[in-house]
Amino acid sequence: MSAGSSTGETVQQRLVFDALVVGGGIAGLQSAIELGDQGYKVLIVEKAPSIGGKMIGLSKVFPTLDCSSCICTPRMAAAAHHENVTIFTYSEVRRTERAGSRFQVEVVRKPRYVHEADCIGCRLCEYACPIHVEHEFEGNLGARKAIYVPFANAIPQLALVDLEHCVFCGLCEKACPTHAINFLQQPEEIAVEVGTIILATGYKMMSPERLKLYGGGRLRNVLTSLQVERLLAPHGPYGRVLRPSDGKAPSSIGYVQCAGSRDQSVGVSYCSRVCCMYAIKQAMLLSGSLPMVDITIYYMDIRAFGKGFEQFFQNAKAMGIEFVKAKVGRITEDENQNPVVRVEVMEQDGRVEERKHDMVVLSLGLLPGWDPSGVVPAEIAEDGFIRSADPLLAPARTTAEGIFVAGAAAGPKDIPDSIVEAGAAAMEAAIYLRRNGSSSNGDERAVNEQAAVVAQGRG
Ligand code: SF4
Ligand code: SF4
Repeated sequence: MSAGSSTGETVQQRLVFDALVVGGGIAGLQSAIELGDQGYKVLIVEKAPSIGGKMIGLSKVFPTLDCSSCICTPRMAAAAHHENVTIFTYSEVRRTERAGSRFQVEVVRKPRYVHEADCIGCRLCEYACPIHVEHEFEGNLGARKAIYVPFANAIPQLALVDLEHCVFCGLCEKACPTHAINFLQQPEEIAVEVGTIILATGYKMMSPERLKLYGGGRLRNVLTSLQVERLLAPHGPYGRVLRPSDGKAPSSIGYVQCAGSRDQSVGVSYCSRVCCMYAIKQAMLLSGSLPMVDITIYYMDIRAFGKGFEQFFQNAKAMGIEFVKAKVGRITEDENQNPVVRVEVMEQDGRVEERKHDMVVLSLGLLPGWDPSGVVPAEIAEDGFIRSADPLLAPARTTAEGIFVAGAAAGPKDIPDSIVEAGAAAMEAAIYLRRNGSSSNGDERAVNEQAAVVAQGRG
């Protein structure tokens, strides 16, 4: 049953769940699966067209060097096939209102311009489309089409149209065997009632454009750490490690630590906690991919505080990776687009040197992924991340009753810590639901069956 709204969006019947998880990255998936396993009905709302968050785009994880997608993909599949978990991808929470111990939530499903129930993910539309666009999932190093399935192991495997670049040639419509493409699809507004909310909205990387002294994102061979993750991934944009300007295999790579962390000039005073370890991990993987490469890591401090991290750091040194305690003041490039790093070497009484590399990687800091202001009544802390009520004793509790936080939404953290805190958030949410007697009953289950239909597809 549906009705029109004043905004022109289609309003569906109210859906009822025990818990809403905002964000379908590894923390959100873990929280949802743990609540679902306890019998609670959970809705995940993910703004991207696929679940998996940042983790699904990483190459390997530190310090074990396990394949990232081998860990993340089964969690994605477990959530997608869980009988108690419903997932709305390409959707956003627009508004939340407290109603007693429960919450009324407005969710908007953005149009894919592809009818989800009919799309079989065959990609024939993608092959037919003549428009090439930089691919966000590949750190803009590769290309996608104007109609595309987000990435190889995306869940759901559904195409979507990027209207900004589409030239409406109609080739995709002709190629689609199921007539799934619908350029008239509208945003859909869905009213949802839930008993508790878990915010698992993750992080975003510092934008290189803000780091003017490091080239401001303009130097072709100065890459971000997420771009290098894609270069190292088995199905990355080039299939191997090449530098973007000329496709040469780099023989000298420099890493610039604390790029956009511990730096008041860009408004970030905190340590992003993961950059030291991901840089060491990438340096080790690059040494494996490019056996003749020289890698130098310019650092202020190496913060190897977690289990196995110090040994990981020592292993990297033993592999020949050079660690130089230095402050990088500026990055420019020579006439061949080789990045030139101007460094103040602390171990040589602050001597200033210029060092040339084939490629430089910025170990970018982590920023809050989402500002809940005006949408969810959770407080943000001075650093912009969601404030925990008690960071030491109850890190998953926010200052708002019934609203919990999981993973990097509360502050920078690595994958194991995110997963552990996601479990804590699920447990806190379950305790809250039990205390408030707030659990989906028989009638609500019937409504939730309709939710499954909504998640499956719309016209
Ligand atoms: Fe690509 Fe748009 Fe043409 Fe479809 S209509 S093939 S999406 S450019
Ligand atoms: Fe295949 Fe059509 Fe879906 Fe494209 S929109 S992936 S052609 S079913």
